[in-house]
Amino acid sequence: AHEVHLVRRPHGFPDADDFRLVERELGEPGPGEAAVVNRAFSVDPYMRGRMNDVPSYVAPFGLDEAMDGRSVGEVSAVGDGVTDLAAGDLVLGNLAWRDRGIAKAKHLQKVPDVEGVDPKAYLGVLGAPGLTAWVGLLDKASFQPGDAVFVSGAAGAVGSLVGQIAKAKGASRVVGSAGSAEKVRWLTDELGFDAAFNYRDAPVLDQLEKAMPSGLDVYFDNVGADHLEAAIDVANDHARVAACGAIAHYNDTAEDLTPGPRNLFKIVKKRLSIQGFIVTDSLDRFPPFLEEVTPWVAQGRVRFSETVVSGVDHAVEAFQGLLRGENTGKMLVTP
Ligand code: NDP
Repeated sequence: AHEVHLVRRPHGFPDADDFRLVERELGEPGPGEAAVVNRAFSVDPYMRGRMNDVPSYVAPFGLDEAMDGRSVGEVSAVGDGVTDLAAGDLVLGNLAWRDRGIAKAKHLQKVPDVEGVDPKAYLGVLGAPGLTAWVGLLDKASFQPGDAVFVSGAAGAVGSLVGQIAKAKGASRVVGSAGSAEKVRWLTDELGFDAAFNYRDAPVLDQLEKAMPSGLDVYFDNVGADHLEAAIDVANDHARVAACGAIAHYNDTAEDLTPGPRNLFKIVKKRLSIQGFIVTDSLDRFPPFLEEVTPWVAQGRVRFSETVVSGVDHAVEAFQGLLRGENTGKMLVTP
């Protein structure tokens, strides 16, 4: 089997030499275990945080160990005592960054068999990114029909769903920002965003003011930095912010910090609510999320995209590409 190890903690943007592709003998699954051949695995922005040795909501990756993350694959063999899984079953697990692996059977879940839904969808639009969008918008930002919504990172796995859920639930206006003209076109022409802009073209504030002349009621923040500052400026009184991510800051170092918002006093003046959240605190919301969003995906009412990089030996490039914006929708690796 092949797996990617973290061998050095990145300083700033992750370097190829921070990782090593390691080949090792897997052996047979032991009692209570199952062997899985991966079909696809996820690389996600939060993994950058886990590469630092700092206390956080999730433990750091160990050095000279395989990293992990969400994966979908096929069971190839099961060990003694495993009765609820059999060879050939498609399962979700935490076997990312490798082409095959062995896991405790109780840590694997069978992929729901839904017509019109590819198993890979459970790593993206129907997986943690989808739940993040749904929980962030509905529970954390208390979205109400008629709200004007701005989402940054709008062409990514989370952001692309935020905008579509808001539209489906009666937003008065949905605006997204993304890093290329092609992504902007995808948002407006394919996903039904009312407007979108490329944040690299001009200052975010100028573009956001033009796109939302009546202000915003909800900001779904995936980026932080200039995006959060502009959203606070454009926010209407009593607007709500779902603080989901701050990717503009993930490669910051002590000597090179991306500037943050300089207008925090407006939170007081405008009586804004800013709610940070971590999706794993809301796993009880998975069933109602799947109940609502699965039919939308199966019927094509919600559109989604995947950028698929092939080969576990290219997983690091996929991860670097994610941080550079080379993905539209979910970034996946097929080993
Ligand atoms: P995406 O699919 O959105 O991929 C990341 C995207 O971020 C890139 O495609 C790139 O797109 C954009 N980006 C990178 N650097 C910058 C920058 N400096 N400024 C603006 N945009 C940038 O990833 P996800 O959908 O998985 O995650 C989106 C956000 O949600 C992340 O911040 C992530 O950490 C967060 N998250 C939070 C969770 C939680 O529980 N709170 C759970 C899951 C995700 P572009 O071309 O537009 O620059």
